[in-house]
Amino acid sequence: MMGVIFNCMFDKLFSSFSQDIGIDLGTANTLIWVKGKGITIREPSVVAMHRKTKSIIAIGTEAKKMVGKTPSSIITVSPLRGGVIADFDATLAMISHYIQAVHEFGSVFPVAWARPRVVIGIPSSVTEVEKRAVWEAALSAGAREAFLIEEPMAAAIGEKISVFAPTGVMIVDVGGGTTEIAIISLGGIVVSKSLKVAGQEMDDAIIHYVRLRHGLIMGDRTAEDVKIKIGSAYEHNQKSKVIRSASSGQKSKEESASDSELMNHNSRERMAIVRGRDIETGLPKSLRLTEVEIREALAPVLAEIIEGIAEVLQEAPPELTNDILTHGILLTGGGSMLSGFDQLIVERTKIPVILSEDPLTSVVRGAGRVLEDDQLLQRVKVVGGLK
Ligand code: ADP
Ligand code: MG
Repeated sequence: MMGVIFNCMFDKLFSSFSQDIGIDLGTANTLIWVKGKGITIREPSVVAMHRKTKSIIAIGTEAKKMVGKTPSSIITVSPLRGGVIADFDATLAMISHYIQAVHEFGSVFPVAWARPRVVIGIPSSVTEVEKRAVWEAALSAGAREAFLIEEPMAAAIGEKISVFAPTGVMIVDVGGGTTEIAIISLGGIVVSKSLKVAGQEMDDAIIHYVRLRHGLIMGDRTAEDVKIKIGSAYEHNQKSKVIRSASSGQKSKEESASDSELMNHNSRERMAIVRGRDIETGLPKSLRLTEVEIREALAPVLAEIIEGIAEVLQEAPPELTNDILTHGILLTGGGSMLSGFDQLIVERTKIPVILSEDPLTSVVRGAGRVLEDDQLLQRVKVVGGLK
């Protein structure tokens, strides 16, 4: 009894110096939410370390700058490749680095005293053993209590969806390494799938296409830039063509006007100049890529994601499918920012799509809300509690 009272007192004491933290441990980006402050850190999930000794050289933005440019003694790793923990030590280093960083800059007390509570969103494909390991990693990084929640659940909460209602909700989170597809009802995940096809796979598809078509080898960063700049999933022309032809009243004048507009439309296809290495000469070469080409390169990857959505829908109980047909699919994650992706999904699945307004932060905002609401935390956590 005395022990319990003592523990309670200590908990109160600790929580008064500590900064409770929500973490989105993404395959591409790591975001940190500090209770009462909001998002304080957003950095790429990259760690640079010595190849032999494994000692850490840089974490986050600094480490991402080194990708593809390291000498043989240094390697850069993405700790969570393909939605699983590919490098455990790097994951550990990243978690403790950020927990420390929050306390160094935001609090007069070191982590060892403050002992924050930590909520971490992790991909639903991470195995039980790995979940346990992440949980322990957070505790050994100084957390007083650590809780894990599944990313689709966090994303839904972040988007303010009522996850406890007896209504099926579908979340599609297209991240860097994985696309998480889940149907949530009554506070739990009913069906889910984690595809290893997402943003990075789109970049790879562009690299592959440009190599085959133009004999140019381009780097990962260049491919990602091109995707963000001129990537698209859906051709807008068709739609505007239909609208225009339907509204044509005055014959000849209208027709010629709409023709030239169409040409304009085509020539308005965005373009990008990329640099890379010529496959034959081995020399640097630059090349003009069009939006049409990038769309063609991305098509198979997008089809695979849509196939995954269809499979999850097929596995869902019919009542839930009905709900989703009525309310739509919530699309989030960085990959959802690909222009026209929502329209492509609507066209292929015939289900309405709701785009998140801030897709890069859905998960961390969800982790933040869970952190600030103890009852919610107890209901949605998958692993957690005191040591
Ligand atoms: P994760 O949760 O796996 O860390 P994010 O949700 O942070 O991933 O999304 C990162 C992915 O989103 C990257 O592959 C990035 O290239 C992609 N991305 C970011 N902005 C855009 C954009 N405007 N269009 C297409 N893809 C984008
Ligand atoms: Mg994510």
